[in-house]
Amino acid sequence: MSPKTVMQLKSELLIKKNQLMNLQVLNKQAAVEDESSMKDVIDRSDSEEAWHAKERMSMHLKTELKQIDISLQRIEAGTFGDCEDCGIEIPVKRLRVRPDATLCLKCQEAFEKESAGTRGGQSGQFLH
Ligand SMILES: [Zn+2]
Repeated sequence: MSPKTVMQLKSELLIKKNQLMNLQVLNKQAAVEDESSMKDVIDRSDSEEAWHAKERMSMHLKTELKQIDISLQRIEAGTFGDCEDCGIEIPVKRLRVRPDATLCLKCQEAFEKESAGTRGGQSGQFLH
């Protein structure tokens, strides 16, 4: 991958990181406002649902931020864009959609097939 492409992807990641961090702040502020008005809320199930939605949002933002950080670390280390399994370059097109991708499409498919098989084998334990 050309250094120019890496720089481009890096700035895209940094922009996305900023947006996510802004969302995180907004999400936290909304949670605080909710708590202070909680005593006025008659229908608690509504506010609990809202609380859970915020928790989910917060988890989602955390996961995305973590993935971006990992991608940025890989850019710094110079390993960004290389498939962790077979070592070939992951197509830029794929990295734009999934900057956190660490496997090329071929290896990803093989991995998903493998983990789907494992999940299928284990699911019997949980079905009583
Ligand atoms: Zn691969």
